[in-house]
Amino acid sequence: MSDCIFCKIAAGEVPGRKVFEDEHTLAFLDIAGDVDGHILVIPKRHVKNILDCDGETLTQVMRTVKRVADHLTKNCGYDGVNLLNASGESAGQSVPHLHIHIVPRKAGDGIDAWPKFEGAKREIEEVFREIVM
Ligand code: 5GP
Ligand code: ZN
Repeated sequence: MSDCIFCKIAAGEVPGRKVFEDEHTLAFLDIAGDVDGHILVIPKRHVKNILDCDGETLTQVMRTVKRVADHLTKNCGYDGVNLLNASGESAGQSVPHLHIHIVPRKAGDGIDAWPKFEGAKREIEEVFREIVM
């Protein structure tokens, strides 16, 4: 998509610190500056988010997520990763091109990557009946 910043990074039209790329996907450093080694993995093809992503593209993205996570933990001194994704404005998605955040973790690093939830507002059984497939 012509006005998409992540499409431009994938196409090399905008600079990005590319950690890894293959034919279908790209992993590059997030510019947020919030946590060391914050990486985004995207499909090169423009897909808005997980809701409009076909299975094959999602598989390609997750294969790269796994590859980068393995590299971080095997070669770079990290012990684990948090994976984060926002799909849809209501979920807090700010860039409308599918991306999986990878936050590299080390024991005792003090990073709190888990959202602060306020507590469920409805009975668990009622919600379960509503969403069970
Ligand atoms: P979201 O809020 O959609 O889950 O995450 C979007 C992410 O994209 C944010 O963490 C933000 O820092 C990152 N981001 C936005 N614009 C750019 C950019 O031009 N380059 C890079 N590398 N990251 C960006
Ligand atoms: Zn795009």
